Amino acid sequence: MAVPLLDMKRQYDTIKEKIDTAVAEVLNHGWFILGPEVKELEKQVAKMCNVSTGIAVASGTDALLLSLDAAGVGPGDEVIVPDFSFFASAGVVSRLGARPVFVDIEEDTYNIDPAKIDDAITLKTKAIMPVHLFGQMADMDPIVSIGREHSLAIVEDAAQAIGSKYKNKQAGSMGDFGCFSFYPTKNLGAAGDGGMVVTSNFEYAEKLLMLRMHGWKKKYFPEIIGYNSRLDSIQAAILLVKLAYLKEWTEKRQEHAAKYDSAFAGSSIVTPVVKDYSYHIYNQYTIAVDNRDELLATLKEKNIGHDIYYPAPFHRLKCYCDLEYKEGDFPISEKAAESVVSIPIYPELTEVEQDEVIEAVKSVSA
Ligand SMILES: *Cc1c(COP(=O)(O)O)cnc(C)c1O
Repeated sequence: MAVPLLDMKRQYDTIKEKIDTAVAEVLNHGWFILGPEVKELEKQVAKMCNVSTGIAVASGTDALLLSLDAAGVGPGDEVIVPDFSFFASAGVVSRLGARPVFVDIEEDTYNIDPAKIDDAITLKTKAIMPVHLFGQMADMDPIVSIGREHSLAIVEDAAQAIGSKYKNKQAGSMGDFGCFSFYPTKNLGAAGDGGMVVTSNFEYAEKLLMLRMHGWKKKYFPEIIGYNSRLDSIQAAILLVKLAYLKEWTEKRQEHAAKYDSAFAGSSIVTPVVKDYSYHIYNQYTIAVDNRDELLATLKEKNIGHDIYYPAPFHRLKCYCDLEYKEGDFPISEKAAESVVSIPIYPELTEVEQDEVIEAVKSVSA
């Protein structure tokens, strides 16, 4: 039996009426960009995160880009980024003319290793971007204290982590900026691109509001050079429906994770490590194995959905060859890129399907 890595249609079917009604309402009122649904979504996400403001933008990538821009990152500056993440975490730094400075990750969580940040800081460092990979927050206390000590902006890449917590604090609420993605496959996904920045800093919020709309407060009179990066009302309407289910869906993901954990216990399969400080929301369930090629071949043959997040550490990417890193610079990140595989964890995954996944994985990694 084929098991998809993710099934959007299945989720839609469970809330079809509410989604259809919400979309129809937007089509009827006709305020398509930054309409009332966007304002409501900003309010609800900010409230959930215990921060003062949410600023909806066009994507998670833009949430990161506009945050770094609002923090004043530009040519000549450096931003500290984990070596292992989705490309956007590094790409946005380069887009602003700054240099991403990579730092190795922790072996168990795949998140940036706080103990290695100090060595990467120079006089040019302007910001740190911890990424909360796979739905578990990075070890924020030491990161925040290093950031404060060196007066650096902290931009949380929480694209995979809305609803996740660190010592009971919400993802996005511990840095100066918290950046979310509503890309369809994320745990809170729209029917297209979308993103949001949350912040409790009034000046940053003001600047972000200007940046997403060409840099103006007063229409047609830009004060700074901005972007066109806004959220559609239809996307916000869909996200508002889904936000009400986020807790329930997260708990389903956690149930599936617990079942995988116990099924793989005692085998050679490395399962996700959940820290004491962490409320993991399992945007992904990512295992690590020594014989990955063999596992991939079996999953493919049995039609079990899977993907590799991520197959290349940043410092080995062609687009970053000018940064002159070399193989061996970040051994933990390199090892992760060679051994990780993510398997189906979405809330609607059935028991029979999950059993199928477990059997396939265990058939090669007993
Ligand atoms: C998805 C993702 C992004 C980018 O979000 P988009 O909405 O696709 O632009 C950034 N960082 C991480 C870690 C992500 O997973």
